[in-house]
Amino acid sequence: MKAALLYTGEQSLKVENIANPTVPKGWALVKVRAAGVCGTELHFLVDGLMPLAKSPFILGHEIAGEVVEVPEGTGFKKGDRVSIYNLVNCGHCSYCRAGLDSLCPNATGQFGFNLDGGFAEYVTVPPTSLVHLPDKVSFNDGAILACSGMTAVHAVKMADIGFRDTVVVNGVGGVGLAVGQVAKNTGARVLAIADTQEKADLAKKLFADEVVITKDYSNVAEDIKKLTDGNGVDAFFELVGTAASANAGLNSLAKRGRYVIIGYTKDHVDLDPILMVIYELRIMASVAGTKQDLEDVLKLCEQGKVKVFVQSELKLDDVNVALEKLKNRTSLGRNVIVF
Ligand SMILES: [Zn+2]
Ligand SMILES: [Zn+2]
Repeated sequence: MKAALLYTGEQSLKVENIANPTVPKGWALVKVRAAGVCGTELHFLVDGLMPLAKSPFILGHEIAGEVVEVPEGTGFKKGDRVSIYNLVNCGHCSYCRAGLDSLCPNATGQFGFNLDGGFAEYVTVPPTSLVHLPDKVSFNDGAILACSGMTAVHAVKMADIGFRDTVVVNGVGGVGLAVGQVAKNTGARVLAIADTQEKADLAKKLFADEVVITKDYSNVAEDIKKLTDGNGVDAFFELVGTAASANAGLNSLAKRGRYVIIGYTKDHVDLDPILMVIYELRIMASVAGTKQDLEDVLKLCEQGKVKVFVQSELKLDDVNVALEKLKNRTSLGRNVIVF
């Protein structure tokens, strides 16, 4: 099969022909139809935040495709359209049983992180990672929602927001667009912070009631306060994660406000304990999502309540074009590899 391989120390992928994967006993073989190219890829390629589990390795954790073979009695059959829940967990620990499967301490891997992922024609997964794709949801949407969509649902549920709340989505990338739309579905008033007019326009089109445009965050807290009659917001979804944006975020919160860190960031955050106490602020962090979160976002997409913005469809041979767009911050929404 054709696969895009990452070798240790390289900053781009090499598309090569390799042997089809052998299917572990009890697992399924899936023909990949779409694989999203995500900002997380840069943690393997550029900043070294995530070391390679093996070399060469196949990235791609946003996967949708068609079942080629699957054991009987799993609820799936050959030809089924599926999205892949990319975490492989044990299914029987206290976290898994409580529906917190993304926190399973016995997790054995994650596709595109330490198990070969979707930048290849085929991928093998356990049947527990298969999620039926509703007829109305495309392979592109099913792939992309398996990362940004499920992450958004997880974070919005955690922030516990509703129609009385005003919230901010800081950062209008793939995940930000999903968080904004999911938040909007709770009935909350949703503001956004973007670094370009183009992203601001997209946020307005998809979910945002108001957008603040900034590059350095110097006046963001004041701007947010002005937009909320001086009260601040009930939740600040942090998808940028610099010290400057965190400072602006914490100072934008209303009393009992939630500062919700999503995904992987490196900057340390300064906390003002007096502000924290007087305002009873809460700091929470949310990473990825549960299989239920993925099923929930696919349903929202089926109902037309969450839309995926695809910037371009690319062939696997052109995967580095999408990665370059991420490196120089010119991607808008998601780029997706189609097969
Ligand atoms: Zn992703
Ligand atoms: Zn478990």
